Amino acid sequence: MRDEILVLEDIEAGYEGTPVIRGVSLSVRRGEKVVVMGPSGSGKSTLLKVAVLLVKPWKGRVWLDGEELTSGRVDLRKARAKTGFVFQSYNLFPHMKVIDNVALPLRIVKGYDKARAREKAASLLRQVGLAGFEEKYPLQLSGGQQQRVAIARALAMDPVILFLDEPTSALDPELKGEVLDVLLEVAKQGIAMLAVTHELDFAREAADRIVIMEHGRIIEEGPAQQILDSPSTPRVKEFLRLVR
Ligand code: ADP
Ligand code: MG
Repeated sequence: MRDEILVLEDIEAGYEGTPVIRGVSLSVRRGEKVVVMGPSGSGKSTLLKVAVLLVKPWKGRVWLDGEELTSGRVDLRKARAKTGFVFQSYNLFPHMKVIDNVALPLRIVKGYDKARAREKAASLLRQVGLAGFEEKYPLQLSGGQQQRVAIARALAMDPVILFLDEPTSALDPELKGEVLDVLLEVAKQGIAMLAVTHELDFAREAADRIVIMEHGRIIEEGPAQQILDSPSTPRVKEFLRLVR
């Protein structure tokens, strides 16, 4: 357990009595990159939300960084602050400059003073290739650039695990590459990732493990190369053919 940053044990969850996750166990080790794939509606986004208890499971247990979030004895805001989230829609504050979008959580959550927060934010923006864009507003940036700001903001928390929910699926094809390149660099830094994405090249390069979901269950799981090159069921083979 010590090596595991996230453990989901026998999770059942859903909305208003309708089951969406139907008995999922999944763990992510420190520094491990796990990619989740599966058809629309299979429960991938819900699973990420369960991992930080934004959706509370009916059954099963969740551990993050050694703490059992489902115990009812953990400060969930503090626990969530140890994670970073990047969504399909960048969710930046449009009325705030790029640098302030990244610096704000450092001030609010980490209690940095203004100068220190801006310094760290500027360094993160350099890391995602956005030096020189600090004083712009999000809407003055391309979608790919905005998503890179969102990645910088997620990294600002020095997260123990980064959750990515289809980070490139809202982007035009020519903008996906710059975001995936940044995510590959982040992956190399040793931070754990649980990423929902159908970018097979990214999965092949970054993922230690791929998990395929369907109807709220894991239908296949294994090393990235094995899943991509020799999936064990026709269903998974067909799914991978469709996303290719
Ligand atoms: P995926 O990310 O794999 O597309 P989701 O986890 O978003 O799947 O959704 C799984 C199922 O849960 C879908 O049927 C979806 O309509 C339903 N669902 C997702 N979010 C909510 C919600 N907030 N309220 C009610 N139903 C939801
Ligand atoms: Mg989703």
